Amino acid sequence: MANPFRSLPSVSQLLESPPLKRLSETLNQQVVVDSVREFLDGVRDRMGKASESIEVPSPTELANRIAAWFHSERRDLLVPVINGTGVLLHTGLGRAPLAPSAIQRIQEIASGYSSLELDLHSGERGQRAKIVERILRELTGCEAAAVANNNAAATMLALSSVAAGKEVIVSRGQLIEIGGSYRLPEVMECAGCKLREVGTTNKTHLADYEQAINENTGAILRVHPSNFQVVGFTETPALVELVELAHRHELPLIDDVGSGALIDFAEIGLLDEPVVGESIKKGADLVLFSGDKLVGGPQSGIAIGKKVYIERILKNPLMRAMRVDKLTLAGLQTTLGLYHKREDALREIPILNMLTTPLANLQFRANKFIGQIQYLTGIKSAEAVQEQSMLGGGSLPTQRISTWCASIQPSTLTLDQFSQKLREHDPAVMGRISQGRFLLDFRTIPPRLDAALAGAFETLFVS
Ligand SMILES: *Cc1c(COP(=O)(O)O)cnc(C)c1O
Repeated sequence: MANPFRSLPSVSQLLESPPLKRLSETLNQQVVVDSVREFLDGVRDRMGKASESIEVPSPTELANRIAAWFHSERRDLLVPVINGTGVLLHTGLGRAPLAPSAIQRIQEIASGYSSLELDLHSGERGQRAKIVERILRELTGCEAAAVANNNAAATMLALSSVAAGKEVIVSRGQLIEIGGSYRLPEVMECAGCKLREVGTTNKTHLADYEQAINENTGAILRVHPSNFQVVGFTETPALVELVELAHRHELPLIDDVGSGALIDFAEIGLLDEPVVGESIKKGADLVLFSGDKLVGGPQSGIAIGKKVYIERILKNPLMRAMRVDKLTLAGLQTTLGLYHKREDALREIPILNMLTTPLANLQFRANKFIGQIQYLTGIKSAEAVQEQSMLGGGSLPTQRISTWCASIQPSTLTLDQFSQKLREHDPAVMGRISQGRFLLDFRTIPPRLDAALAGAFETLFVS
């Protein structure tokens, strides 16, 4: 019997066919060659396993199939997700969604030229940091501001600008790791500073800091332990005490507050979140926070504080490598502007709006959704349950917020298969599995997506 594989056209023959030739015109030749090989391997594999001989398609037909397969394999990897996890600042899902007015501003700035580094009053060269400086001064009482790509960058810039080659004193209780890749000791090393740890994990006294100060000390750094809490027998000096100590030794006090609460969240039931303006008021020389956590703006790291230190940051060559673009500034400027009126911020900034949505609203929507999906064949049972949402993003770990979820049992699929189907749907849906149930938390789902969510279930789980 003749070798059936012989009837397959060669890779080079296929590459000469019009559909694949067209692919090679715009794409890397090697990538196309590899794909053709992979497809042919698949065909040979199937021919080898088949009990009867398989008819080999003509070279033209084969080339068309390969081109079609190539396009179908290329899926966008960044797609919208309906977040039913209940984690409000989910780093894996992009943290804070933006306010509609911020999005509109980004669109306007993106579609044309803008005054990014031009002072329209004088007609002279301006500084992009000035764009948000005024509003940050109004909101926090700081003297000046700089904006970098994220808080990790802001921390590195601050350390490198005020304490390069020197020791920076940090309490052992604050040597944090956030999301795996952000570890304070490593950030410190990259910034060219020497970490000087003081105290113990649960207790650090003011005297521990004082004893560590010497002629090589460059700064004292305080870090808000955003994603864990040391409870019980603990002690850490108050910010005012640290400021007083630092200033007595002519050192700057850097305060990394993490989430950047611009309003007092205690009023909406979240305790222990340092308010940015309070740190400035208590005398911190530099205060650092993320723009895309509780602020609710685009990914960025904001450094505010005394003019002398901000100027050093702005002159640091690293600033050029870590500065934000016009789109980020457009979104950040508009988001910060909403804080001029507390009620505007709470209504328009999605993260604040989600945090303050009344329970009755969530319960109503969870029940409505259950009414829409409970009789689908793929659903065994569904009920509304009261649960807890989490803030996430390294913020307020121990803070949980009451919520309502749809709790679902699939009829035949396992919970893992069920969640995978939802993840791979367009739009993708993410929930969480807890105690043998699949939960969808309505606090993190914007009401405008309720219909799309029910639609996803109707498509996926009707027999
Ligand atoms: C989240 C966080 C960071 C890192 O901020 P990014 O904006 O993710 O770089 C640093 N410090 C603290 C205290 C944080 O909570």
